[in-house]
Amino acid sequence: MSILPNKTDATYLRWAARNLLRISFLGMDPGPVRIWQLVKRYPWINAFLKVNGLMSRLMGIRTGVYRETTGYILNQFVRAFAEIVRDMDRYSERLVWHEDLVPPEVIYAMGLNPFMVEMLGIVLPMVDVAEGERLIDEAENAGLPPDTCTLPRISVGLALKKYLPPPLCVVTSNSPCDGGMTSYAFLEDLYHAPTFRLALPYRYKDKAAIAYYVEEMKKMIAFLEAHTPGRMNWDRLRAVCEERNRAVAYELELWDMLRHKPAPLGSDVVYLGHLAFALLLPGRPSSTEVFKHLVDYARQSMQSGGGLADERYRVLLWNPPTMIFPDIFSWSEEEFGATMVMDMLTFNRHPFIDTSTPETMLHGLAQIFMQGPMAQHTRGPVEYFFDDMFFIHEHYSTDTIWMAGHIGCKNTQALLGMMREKCRRRNIPLLTIDYDLGDSRVVSKDGIKEQVTMFMKTVMGA
Ligand code: SF4
Repeated sequence: MSILPNKTDATYLRWAARNLLRISFLGMDPGPVRIWQLVKRYPWINAFLKVNGLMSRLMGIRTGVYRETTGYILNQFVRAFAEIVRDMDRYSERLVWHEDLVPPEVIYAMGLNPFMVEMLGIVLPMVDVAEGERLIDEAENAGLPPDTCTLPRISVGLALKKYLPPPLCVVTSNSPCDGGMTSYAFLEDLYHAPTFRLALPYRYKDKAAIAYYVEEMKKMIAFLEAHTPGRMNWDRLRAVCEERNRAVAYELELWDMLRHKPAPLGSDVVYLGHLAFALLLPGRPSSTEVFKHLVDYARQSMQSGGGLADERYRVLLWNPPTMIFPDIFSWSEEEFGATMVMDMLTFNRHPFIDTSTPETMLHGLAQIFMQGPMAQHTRGPVEYFFDDMFFIHEHYSTDTIWMAGHIGCKNTQALLGMMREKCRRRNIPLLTIDYDLGDSRVVSKDGIKEQVTMFMKTVMGA
């Protein structure tokens, strides 16, 4: 059976039309001439015209509510992207870059316009892998070592081409890894922007570390006030944190439903929702709405028999998802009935933020900042990496762990031997996929498929 969906089915066509409509809104605001100028200056905007191709791959053979939700999440992705492009232009004099490990709540509450630098390094390989590879080469040719992770290499490539909107200043951190940190030395130099680095302590779950980080955040606020017209508005921060709490409550409800067999939703629907609306745009009513909708879809899906009726294997994905092959799970759902029910980037133990005082808000945010994606598992003692992994495996009754062994991620490459040993002792089938997150020339999609197929046949007996 072909993995191409029937593109004439009503669900695909409806969501494809809605995506095009959303993109066309950019022609009205900021207007056709301005958008044309923006596309010329930032050609990556064009990549989003390919979103329907990505949607068709992600929909795969999915049917019913699961297929509908795949369309919905992609459409929300397009909405969010269009808003980012519009705001990047509309509020250019208030634009601040932030690293993906520095969540934007504080910047937003200060009346500034946050722009996550790594956003494009994550999204470009998914929609236009060749464009991502061109940028990787740019960075390498400029001297960034070829063994640096391709995610920060894409950011540097964009900066070298001046494809990033100029910021007033930059806030970043000493996390999650050497490659990520090094890229900001390039970015700072290329855009001559004042840069503040938050320092994350090693044992970041300790009380003293949280107190230390609260002070770091106060310094960050002072830095932003010194270099931008933004001023801290604690009432606005309270509103942002309360909105964030509402979204987290919905997401927890969704996670509970994912324990159900067959899972009502899964894979890209879960991690794309989290990436865009919990990490990129937290604390906004529109993001809360997305999680509310996902909960509603999951409930409907459970009532109609689950997302993948023929769910034979439940997968826990460790490490960031395979961005050069984002449809890996719609493919594995069809080939093996294997669906992903939870992943490392999505799962977290972020607290609800106590919004009673500025100090309690900073305390809650400090924990969220420190336990950002990847860093929460790949920084600090090794238990931070394994404890959650085995907890999720049991909590979500997964049959196998797939480690997306991105070759540029030295933090996690260093743990592969230990991971193998620990899984063997627990009798958990482990697949390590050798590949590169953003560069399909290292291992192609077919190469990934081959590894998965071999594992499923020989180890899982599929
Ligand atoms: S994938 Fe690994 S190497 Fe790349 S930015 Fe994340 S932690 Fe760093």
